[in-house]
Amino acid sequence: MRTFTYLRATDAEEAARAHGGRDGSRYLAGGTNLVDLMKQGVEAPDTLVDITRLPMDAVSEEADGVLRVGALVRNSDFAAHPVVRARYPAVSEALLAGASGQLRNAATTGGNLLQRTRCVYFQELSMPCNKREPGTGCAAREGVHRDHAVLGHSAACIATHPSDLAVALAAADAEVETAAPGGGRVIPVTEFHRLPGELPERDTVLEPGELVTAVRLPPPLDGTRATYRKVRDRASYAFALVSVAAQVAQRDDGAAEQVRLAFGGVAHRPWRAWRAEAELTGQPLSEERVTAALDAELTAAEPLRDNVFKIGLARDLARAVLLGLTRP
Ligand code: SF4
Repeated sequence: MRTFTYLRATDAEEAARAHGGRDGSRYLAGGTNLVDLMKQGVEAPDTLVDITRLPMDAVSEEADGVLRVGALVRNSDFAAHPVVRARYPAVSEALLAGASGQLRNAATTGGNLLQRTRCVYFQELSMPCNKREPGTGCAAREGVHRDHAVLGHSAACIATHPSDLAVALAAADAEVETAAPGGGRVIPVTEFHRLPGELPERDTVLEPGELVTAVRLPPPLDGTRATYRKVRDRASYAFALVSVAAQVAQRDDGAAEQVRLAFGGVAHRPWRAWRAEAELTGQPLSEERVTAALDAELTAAEPLRDNVFKIGLARDLARAVLLGLTRP
């Protein structure tokens, strides 16, 4: 039996004070990942700061057209919100592609972004894992790694980030809003999660005690089409082998005015396909051009023994998604 202190905060200042930026402190919201990890012994906080009473559960439209979604908005409410469904269909689809109905009713927006990898070795205390216990090694590298990263991994860690929502937010140019004792900040979602490098224990750029308060979705260009597609081993309740979020806006002549593309299931963070986007912007989206742009993007891939298949899968999925969003 491990004991811990449980505190319930009513505002962000009280939450930050209770957390104190200490290694052993954790914020608790929906608890759908953290509590499981505590039961497994992967997480052993000495202090849990319950933030569910903080006023962060609203969705609001701001004067500049930004949709602000509070960090405590439940995944099911986020997915069903009429503005999200109409204006950001890829975000709604990504949320509905994740977990189960019961979990989506409990899981929060902030918690979704902060969930930990589902690498089996991370959750198995008898195995070495640099993310769980820095300096012990990476059991996945020579072990079972079919589900692991093909882009941006390091000698220290080859895990993928499990969030579907984060992939759709990355393609939507969304931002994460935070609060911290020294002042909050706004972080692009594409810069919020880290590549593992030498510090795989750090999933995000958050400082100790920094609290996610909301995500901000900018208005898409007029006529933008967007979608999220996920390939997984079974029809529901499984993490992505590869997923794709994309949005496309075309000019009257059919050329791409804007292309936004992000992959999930391939890296330690949502993988924004900057190179492919640059090659496609301003161009007609023909099958040949899209294929060439995706091949160029994926030249950066470094597959492992058992996940070479992800490269072709990512290319084919993204091509189908982009061409499906393109008006003839
Ligand atoms: Fe741990 Fe990362 Fe290696 Fe998995 S891939 S065992 S999370 S270090």
